[in-house]
Amino acid sequence: MHAPNTPEQPPQPDHYDRMLARTEQQQGGGHTLREALDWAVDHASALGELSREQAQQVADWLQRDLQDAAHFLNESGSELQQWLRFDRDLVVDELFELLDRLVDRSRVELVAWQRESEQLAEWRSGELTGIGTLTCVACGATLSFEQSAPIPHCPSCGGDRFRRLIDTDA
Ligand SMILES: [Zn+2]
Repeated sequence: MHAPNTPEQPPQPDHYDRMLARTEQQQGGGHTLREALDWAVDHASALGELSREQAQQVADWLQRDLQDAAHFLNESGSELQQWLRFDRDLVVDELFELLDRLVDRSRVELVAWQRESEQLAEWRSGELTGIGTLTCVACGATLSFEQSAPIPHCPSCGGDRFRRLIDTDA
């Protein structure tokens, strides 16, 4: 089963947001996060919004952000707004609440995955990421995302690898 008109464009922030919204809805309907993500991938490719490979890619990027948020909440005992590292008023309320609900309900599942997938703990230029803050591996500059967006090259040094801070200061 594949869409006849496979989109040529790379996945856009809008695809990430839709993947998040659908996953949250499915998970809230009583599915595991894994089931909800798989369903969202099937749905995006069945509708022809993305090829299956692209949809899976977006799901992987979303999963990485979710895992990181869950890991932070577990380690720090803080709230999701601390994970953002900027004022949550800068983010569309609905987007923040979707993420907050999904991470809160899936925390145990997410933290278990985190242990199995150390290779996902790095973000590269050109990939999509959701709201939050990334730090350049090379120079330590921080990039704030008030909405989902493609990750640029580091504005300070041109680096293309990023991570999130684990500690609660900064
Ligand atoms: Zn840099």
